Amino acid sequence: MRKQIRKIGILTSGGDASGMNAAIRAAVRYAIYKKIEVYGYYEGFKGLIANNYKVLTNNSVGGIIDRGGTVLFTARSEEFKTKEGLLKAKNNLKENSIDALVVIGGDGSFRGARDLSEFGVNVVGIPATIDNDIYGTDLSLGFDTALNVIIDLVSKIRDTASSHERIFVVEVMGRNSGELAIKSGLACGSDYVLIPGIKFDLAKISSEIKNHRIGKRHTLLMVAEGAAKAEEVASSIKLLVDHEVRFSVLGHIQRGGSPTAVDRLIAAQFAKKAIDFIISGGTNAMVAIQKNKIEVVDFNEVFSKNKIIDKSLYDYAHILAL
Ligand code: ATP
Repeated sequence: MRKQIRKIGILTSGGDASGMNAAIRAAVRYAIYKKIEVYGYYEGFKGLIANNYKVLTNNSVGGIIDRGGTVLFTARSEEFKTKEGLLKAKNNLKENSIDALVVIGGDGSFRGARDLSEFGVNVVGIPATIDNDIYGTDLSLGFDTALNVIIDLVSKIRDTASSHERIFVVEVMGRNSGELAIKSGLACGSDYVLIPGIKFDLAKISSEIKNHRIGKRHTLLMVAEGAAKAEEVASSIKLLVDHEVRFSVLGHIQRGGSPTAVDRLIAAQFAKKAIDFIISGGTNAMVAIQKNKIEVVDFNEVFSKNKIIDKSLYDYAHILAL
């Protein structure tokens, strides 16, 4: 017989992403509606090991839907990767009579959740990472907000670039993923996008810039942090083009800010799907959005492949820049 879910835990882990709070709010309120009590664990898996939690109520998640970051805070925990850490977490959950755990985070957090499930804890993941690099979901919470933040910042950079006829190199987040760079590049009308995994030739780019500059007031290169350092790209191009080149590293600004409508809406839908999945006795999976439908994807499937960048979008961004 399926075990009745009376109490769940929820936490946010890994890098903070806008929309995490909207997901916490929706998960707590929907769970309470389903007569489930919710414990919010602070600082991700670290709080699970330290048994640092607070009982969340409808009121305690009021006024957070529009806030960036996470009210449950987040942390990285090396201890959680050890057997001892996992055992502590599992025992704390057992002592608190937690029937299932909702983990809001990225790929690393889901691997942690999967490890915990091997100790008999029911787990479900809600994808949240501005890198949008989790296989199995078209979108992760925080990505759309980060994209919009970048678009806003780059439009300001373009003002000064075209006023002064400059070449600008903008570095966006993405150590292993080019999603933010490609999509922000396309949305900002950048001339070049440099991403991890696709080779680029600065000599060729510089010669193209030189030959195509006539009639152009600005040139914009979008660089994912994992592909190259904006400063180095800027100084190489400057040497080759003999023109003013500036760079800007957008940094942590990209993480912050109030979530966009897209992030708030998927946060609400992810949360409902996650709670329903847990109630149905499900475990070891994440909720996802695929072709505009909210789905559940087993962690084994999530970890089986790497998310592949849409090369046609990359090519298209360069076609439009001609
Ligand atoms: P982001 O994509 O924003 O970085 P993330 O969830 O991938 O988010 P990580 O720092 O990789 O962030 O992971 C968060 C926590 O999950 C780690 O501090 C660790 O406790 C746990 N974790 C990460 N990787 C693993 C792993 N391979 N096995 C078990 N636990 C892991």
